[in-house]
Amino acid sequence: MSLYHSTRSRAISRTSKEAIREGLAPDGGLFVCDALGAEKFEVSRLAEMSYSEIAQAVLQMLLPDYTSDEIAACVREAYEGTFASPEVTPLVPLESLGTGSIDSPVSVLELFHGPTSAFKDVALQMLPRLMARAGDADGDGRVMIVTATSGDTGKAALAGFADAPGCGITVFYPAGKVSHVQELQMTTQAGGNVAVCAVRGNFDDTQSAVKRIFADSALAERLGAAGWTLSSANSINVGRLVPQVVYYFAAYAQLLRAGTIEVGDEVEFCVPTGNFGDVLAGYYAKLLGLPVAKLIVASDANNVLYDFLTTGVYDRNRPFFTTTSPSMDILISSNLERMLYYLSDGDCELVAALMAELAETGRYEVPADLLARIQEVFGCGWASEAEVSDAIRSCWEGHGYLIDPHTACGYHVLERTPAAPGARARVLLSTASPYKFPRAVAEALDLAVPEDDFACMETLAQATGTMPPAQLASLQSAPILHGDVVDVDDMGAFVERAALDL
Ligand SMILES: *Cc1c(COP(=O)(O)O)cnc(C)c1O
Repeated sequence: MSLYHSTRSRAISRTSKEAIREGLAPDGGLFVCDALGAEKFEVSRLAEMSYSEIAQAVLQMLLPDYTSDEIAACVREAYEGTFASPEVTPLVPLESLGTGSIDSPVSVLELFHGPTSAFKDVALQMLPRLMARAGDADGDGRVMIVTATSGDTGKAALAGFADAPGCGITVFYPAGKVSHVQELQMTTQAGGNVAVCAVRGNFDDTQSAVKRIFADSALAERLGAAGWTLSSANSINVGRLVPQVVYYFAAYAQLLRAGTIEVGDEVEFCVPTGNFGDVLAGYYAKLLGLPVAKLIVASDANNVLYDFLTTGVYDRNRPFFTTTSPSMDILISSNLERMLYYLSDGDCELVAALMAELAETGRYEVPADLLARIQEVFGCGWASEAEVSDAIRSCWEGHGYLIDPHTACGYHVLERTPAAPGARARVLLSTASPYKFPRAVAEALDLAVPEDDFACMETLAQATGTMPPAQLASLQSAPILHGDVVDVDDMGAFVERAALDL
């Protein structure tokens, strides 16, 4: 049985079920599995496989202690009837962007057809199902999910965990730092086991405070006495990461079926990212045998990853920008730690030292040989706010295709990055419906922009002939159920109350 252990030490090992239940390793590291990539996915079978069949195969490789019946049930519950597309993540071809060679056509992988219109649904429809099957057969403990969100994770986690048996969920978001629609999506969430709270601070403050809550042993003891274990739904959880690996294979399957590529051809992926979760899943797909040419990391104005990937210096000591792509406004990219682990050939000591440096000084630098290996796999670019806006307009004018500001960061970067040699197709991951950010999109199209976000949706629909997803349009009339605002230091007490009140 291949086991998971911390990125910072091999001393403690866990089954994938235990890793999913615990979220974060006890030493603060992230769970990784050394067997990743030992077994390869049979890419030649992809053309005939449905999304569910691909998910079954990928999950079984990465979560070997789940039975195949358990995985089948998880896949069925997560993806059958919950996404508004039979492909789950449909691939839409765009004409050549002009800069890539003619041999590498561009397609958009739409990841936003789930219940909350953002790509996080792909993982967060799955995680509660995996968690429900991760407990001891005789255990009757309950799991309290605690999550910090920069906007989209919160709602997707709430939608996944609301009324999930044996679970509670508490979501914290930075007050005033998420879009109006995102906030309403969370504050209108129904469910007997959900708590939602705004925090005075930015996303990094909020996420750091959640990490401290997990490290608070006195709190853990009090909650434990009442039968509760804390766990995370952030993209540091193995159960979040693994479902995201699936859609890279699903994109490849669709390219095969469309005749765009043949089995074995390399594909380049451009991924709008902040926490490095989405693009890391692409790296896992590559390790599992998917022919990936290059993974291009696209950032917004918070371009800490761009600087890291070009210089080898990770430095979070910099101004924080609140942008129109709030889900990428992140200065601490947690999942980078897993990439450092794998690309340093599993050097736990190095990873532990770098993370200690990051915690102390907010900065670290990787050795030159490691940087070179990273750069072989990952390209990078970033978009300023003006460039995001231009990208939305130019994609609409050039292709008649509407993109949200997160996807627009990727579009901008893809337009300016020559295709990797050997790439037969390029795929841009689209991470949110444009209707989740109607104001920024309408402004980019130079439309007369009304005060209210829902009026903005209507303006956008009329101007473009596209339709808002039903679950977003109906938010306008939904009752607000959550209104708490706390300081960073009071988040632990809020979680405790939420658990003990259940
Ligand atoms: C979360 C999110 C991202 C970034 O995801 P990572 O896990 O940081 O890679 C990008 N776009 C949208 C819309 C998101 O919600």
